[in-house]
Amino acid sequence: MKVFKFGGASVKDAAAVKNIAVILKQYPDDLVVVISAMGKTTNGLERVLNAYISGDKFRALSELNNIRDYHFAIMRELLLDESHAVFSELENVFNGLKKRLEAPPTGSYNHEYDQLVSLGEIISTIIVSNYLNFAGVPNTWTDARQFLKTDGNFREGRVDWDISDRLIRETFDFRNAHLYVTQGFIGSTVNNLTTTLGREGSDYTAAILAYILSAESVTVWKDVPGVLNADPKWFDDTIRLERISYLDAIELTYYGTSVIHPKTIQPLRNKGIRLYVKSFLHPSDPGTVIGEDDYEKLIPSFIFKMDQVLIHVHPVDFSFIAEDNLEKIFRCFAGYGLKINLMQNSAISFDVCVNNDPSRIPDVLADLQKEFRVSSSTGLELITIRYYDDATISRVLINKELLLTQRTRKTIQMVVRDLG
Ligand code: ASP
Ligand code: MG
Repeated sequence: MKVFKFGGASVKDAAAVKNIAVILKQYPDDLVVVISAMGKTTNGLERVLNAYISGDKFRALSELNNIRDYHFAIMRELLLDESHAVFSELENVFNGLKKRLEAPPTGSYNHEYDQLVSLGEIISTIIVSNYLNFAGVPNTWTDARQFLKTDGNFREGRVDWDISDRLIRETFDFRNAHLYVTQGFIGSTVNNLTTTLGREGSDYTAAILAYILSAESVTVWKDVPGVLNADPKWFDDTIRLERISYLDAIELTYYGTSVIHPKTIQPLRNKGIRLYVKSFLHPSDPGTVIGEDDYEKLIPSFIFKMDQVLIHVHPVDFSFIAEDNLEKIFRCFAGYGLKINLMQNSAISFDVCVNNDPSRIPDVLADLQKEFRVSSSTGLELITIRYYDDATISRVLINKELLLTQRTRKTIQMVVRDLG
């Protein structure tokens, strides 16, 4: 069997959903198809939640109505006949949600988040599954909350592999079905409270299923031709990488290549399951294959992170940056959940580059200032080049002030300020 994953862009409108049927008809294999929320629905549901939590019921309901209208328009275009049972099924989902918004929040923010935001995936898979049945691609809709069990760490649920293993094998037995449609991103606790795996987590769901079911391969269908050596947003002359090793894939996603979720590779690597990244617009093109691979080097890949902040820390008493000071600094970053993108130390100073996260940085700075002298610069960029050479470094430094460099044999990272 194989696992396919279709993300938000591949179900963003009726034409995109129809295209999925076209692709699936070309694959006679036993399949589990993992699907995300449609288009930007997850962002929309986050807006509903934030309005609801802040007590703005009117805005919450109007945001929710937009989401409802968007999905109903897609359904009308796909299924034409409004007497189809899916219309009332989804009306019920939306009515349930509206009712929820009438009552005040009961749980923590993260708990409420998972109960509400998870519905994007439920709604999208109900629509796609019904449409596929209608379009001659028979399939079985399956609720991921029944088989993907996590702990109660809402918004970042950690998979309970033992229980999920048993449930997933029971669910996907392929006895009466050869194609299952299910949701990415969502799961539940053993007490059946919905959880999510973190934003963009659908790829990870696909990897979990592939690992447990020992899939032949996973294919992530994207709106790009594969894994590119740079984001087309920044470069016009991007090149598709044909083959990447698991290790390079982990490194590239870790540094911020956004085509696949960083957690996806590890379970696949553990079982030697290949991952294809392919274009849903050109499904017969080769895309990128990630697997066990052996090569000296790849063409250089560029990863840009914008809106970075460089935090400069040094001990007030000019003591060395040694274990005791480092421990205090790391504890502070970890405590506020501020992820470090790059760090470097000298004898008496420590530099850290982080995303500009206004909900965390002020607390971190205030905390550090109790013991250290701290300054910070904003508006910076972090450039990572994997398999760099001199020409690629010069290319990205045109019109930039270089503030900090760090290199290993295969990767260079530079914090820069744009001068243009
Ligand atoms: N719908 C979720 C998100 O947008 C999960 C995913 O697409 O992978 O974050
Ligand atoms: Mg998405």
